[in-house]
Amino acid sequence: MHESCGIFGVYAHRIDIARLIFFGLFALQHRGQESAGIAVSNGSEIKIHTSMGLVSQAFTESDLAQLKGYIGIGHNRYSTAGSSKPANAQPIIAKSEGLTLALAHNGNILNAKLLRDELHVDGYSFHTSSDSEVIANLILASPGKSWEERIRHTMYRLQGAYSLVIMTQNKLIGVRDPMGVRPLCLGTVDNGWVIASESCALDHIGAQFTREIKPGEIVAINADGVKSFEGENDKKALCIFEYIYFARPDSIIQGKLLYPARQAMGEILAQEYPVDADLIMGVPDSATAAGIGYSHASGIPYCEGLLKNRYVGRTFIEPDQRIRELGVQLKFNPLTRIISGKRLVVVDDSIVRGTTTPRVVNLLRKAGVKEVHLRICAPPIRHPCFLGVDMATEWELLAARKTIPEIRDYLGADSLGYLSLDGLIRAVDLPREIFCLACFTGDYPIPVQMGMDKLALETMPEEEPVGSQK
Ligand code: SF4
Repeated sequence: MHESCGIFGVYAHRIDIARLIFFGLFALQHRGQESAGIAVSNGSEIKIHTSMGLVSQAFTESDLAQLKGYIGIGHNRYSTAGSSKPANAQPIIAKSEGLTLALAHNGNILNAKLLRDELHVDGYSFHTSSDSEVIANLILASPGKSWEERIRHTMYRLQGAYSLVIMTQNKLIGVRDPMGVRPLCLGTVDNGWVIASESCALDHIGAQFTREIKPGEIVAINADGVKSFEGENDKKALCIFEYIYFARPDSIIQGKLLYPARQAMGEILAQEYPVDADLIMGVPDSATAAGIGYSHASGIPYCEGLLKNRYVGRTFIEPDQRIRELGVQLKFNPLTRIISGKRLVVVDDSIVRGTTTPRVVNLLRKAGVKEVHLRICAPPIRHPCFLGVDMATEWELLAARKTIPEIRDYLGADSLGYLSLDGLIRAVDLPREIFCLACFTGDYPIPVQMGMDKLALETMPEEEPVGSQK
């Protein structure tokens, strides 16, 4: 399962802003690995560099050296709307009638096609097939005397999930959709301000966490300081998968550090699905904390059964079929001498399509593991996501097609236990009402159309792609 992007913005004088954004994006790499980009303004001119690949591949020293200014935004992309190609890399620059903005988006807009059709009729042109460009143009097309008014007007029209960082020539703006589906937080650095998808990115650049940006809030930063414009209080729908898998365990969302929440998922799993075993392991990295939690609650020792090669990026793996078939083997190496002959509890974060888990089980079997007992930190995923996660069709979802015993057999495990929804909510320790739980329950926070296509905008006419530009 892949999330739809990491976003980062800085307003600060007297520091190397491009490098700061580079390291912020580096800390958010887990949220998107297809492309990366940075746009910077010096008060009169916006410069941008975007490229496919990981943050470390996307920028050279000379790329960063050319991005001079005191306001900047950055983006890591995983595509949930529009395919993975250079033209869809962000930030996006949009211009109209003397107005210019750069925008980076995390989320998914459900009514993007309709809005894009309208904007086309009004003469707006599009250079990408992503829904983010629809947001950018809609802001330019919206009425209002200020950027904040235009953005508020745009928010009335958008349906879906969007955390945004927006840069004008002299302003940095953070926006979170009224449901608060994706996280966004505010911090300070060297007399300046930072906006980031997750607080872990603030820690890495030496910034101080100030607070989370509220659902429906617009935060605008310029030479006069920070202004907040709170919005309407819609039904909240924070994606619970941020707690299970997407966000880093050292991030704080809704006032909760994720690491203990993940540990609690493992502890509750141990109560709900106990088993006689010799060792516990978590599939690295996202299930490590839950594995340790299972070990604490069960009294069974924890081990690192699989070592992860953290430097294998998706971009290297995907293009070549033969290499792709090596799959998990490129990523994980089992500690055979430790796990061979053992009854092993394997804690994992989730099962979506069921493509990776059987390979992990197979790898462990080959390493001589006697029994594999799978414990999953989420309930079965039976419904697609339309709010920024790449699982948009029901037929792709293993639990939508098979019963739990069938899934156990398909995965090749000796036993299988999914954390209950109640158990998950207890582990996160926040009110159930604030979460989107739709992929477990089918109860979507807003009306959705089944079978929506993440490439829906792909078939629409496009202008010349804009890659690296001034
Ligand atoms: S449907 Fe699932 S993955 Fe999508 S936003 Fe809701 S909880 Fe998150």
